Amino acid sequence: MNAPETPIAHLRSTLEGIACLDAPGDLTRLSRDFYWFSPILKEQLDGKQAELVVQPATQEEVVRVVAACARAGIVVTPRGLGTGNYGQAVPLRGGVVLDLSRLKQVLWTRPGAVRAEAGARMSEVDIETRKIGWEQRMLPSTFRGSTIGGFYCGGGVGIGSNNYGMLKEPGNVLGVKALSMEAEPRMVEYRGRQAIDLHHAYGVNGIILEVEFALAPALPWIEFIVSFADFSDAAAFAQILGESDGIAKKGISAHQWPLPRSYRPLKDVLRDGEAVVMTLVAEHSEEAFRELAKAAGGAVIYTNDARAPGAKKITLQEFMWNHATLHALRAGEPVTYLQLGYPQGRNLELVRRLTEVFGDEITQHLEFIRVKGQMTCSGLPIVRFTDAARLRAVMRKLEEEGIYIADPHTWWVEDGGKKSINPRHVEIKADMDPAGLLNPGKLRAWEERIQGQSAAEQRKSIFWDS
Ligand code: FAD
Repeated sequence: MNAPETPIAHLRSTLEGIACLDAPGDLTRLSRDFYWFSPILKEQLDGKQAELVVQPATQEEVVRVVAACARAGIVVTPRGLGTGNYGQAVPLRGGVVLDLSRLKQVLWTRPGAVRAEAGARMSEVDIETRKIGWEQRMLPSTFRGSTIGGFYCGGGVGIGSNNYGMLKEPGNVLGVKALSMEAEPRMVEYRGRQAIDLHHAYGVNGIILEVEFALAPALPWIEFIVSFADFSDAAAFAQILGESDGIAKKGISAHQWPLPRSYRPLKDVLRDGEAVVMTLVAEHSEEAFRELAKAAGGAVIYTNDARAPGAKKITLQEFMWNHATLHALRAGEPVTYLQLGYPQGRNLELVRRLTEVFGDEITQHLEFIRVKGQMTCSGLPIVRFTDAARLRAVMRKLEEEGIYIADPHTWWVEDGGKKSINPRHVEIKADMDPAGLLNPGKLRAWEERIQGQSAAEQRKSIFWDS
């Protein structure tokens, strides 16, 4: 007698005409993201993988896959390009990885706005919007490959946040179209404030099919590196630049030595032992920018006019945000990282304090962003890694100092950036994914609602308790 057909084999037989992958190498490759950035997540997530990867090419195909999975009770983890760094796209309970990267049409552009299918790459969306004189308000440093849907569901800040704040600020996201995880899937359009309720939720409360973002006027950018003997001076210059509203710039980041030592492609440019500020300045602002840098005691050591003949292919944007972390990790030192938020008004004082308290255990990397109209910074420091207990102690100390931590060593939605349970997440999930099949194991409030645990227990972090 033949062995009974497994639910996954049966599912596959119903998906004729849609690309499906089940070779072991494909399952491993497409079940991973950059969770290995964290030694803690690496230990917990290595080996977790899907039983089938499905790659629909149209929205109709997505509907077919979702309907079939919902009917069979098979769990689904959506995926863009897998550049998330908290294991967001890692399937914790097998099932299907729904790779949406083939769903990539830019649907329309108009002055100030773009609408694209979720799998469109951020870089490709930018190419389209530039054709009408506009560009995206912010890009993750993974802009070359990461998808607009993945950025909306897994990211939320980037190069340009010095002008427009985080993605969740009102007016940046205009709308999204989401698909419910049901036997008869519904397409639901969320607009304005409601569209933020599904943002940074790792796809647990709907499969995003289309994203509509607001845009900024496109400008001709020149990249600069300004070098400083002292990191505090570099941070102070970055702050002043951020506050100089007449100078058009995009992305402002400050890097403490020895972090720049790991930036191999820039090794002939960087000065040994010095801190740097990297930024993109609009062509018409170059003169004012150079004057500001000189007055702050900085030396301009690098420029790259991306449009000029012979311009360098390398872009400083790939040394900003978590790309700096990537360079540091690739250098092979025993280090890890944190993600910090500095309160407006006290950020420079706390940046100085961090060096006093932690010495060379922490190497600072700051990204300057606008929060509620005020310039402050996010920190992505490189931390010498000994063990999880020491990392916890460092995090506690930082919190005592008044610094906010977006824990990058957890895959729970609530314990990372959000730090609180958003009741709307649970409400939307109950509506859009009533059987809890979407990316299960990531939304703590949902898991514990099912298990009937108390609200107090819901707030405990897996990382802090481990
Ligand atoms: P994925 O990693 O594939 O997915 C992210 C999450 O969204 C997963 O939970 C996935 O299940 C879900 N998802 C993806 N697509 C959909 C969909 N269509 N519907 C429902 N759920 C979906 N982030 C920033 O915000 N700013 C940065 O500057 C930044 N820099 C980074 C630098 C490096 C080196 C690395 C490794 C990461 C960085 N990130 C940054 C994180 C990450 O690159 C961004 O969040 C990125 O935009 C994710 O896009 P992706 O297509 O790779 O999504």
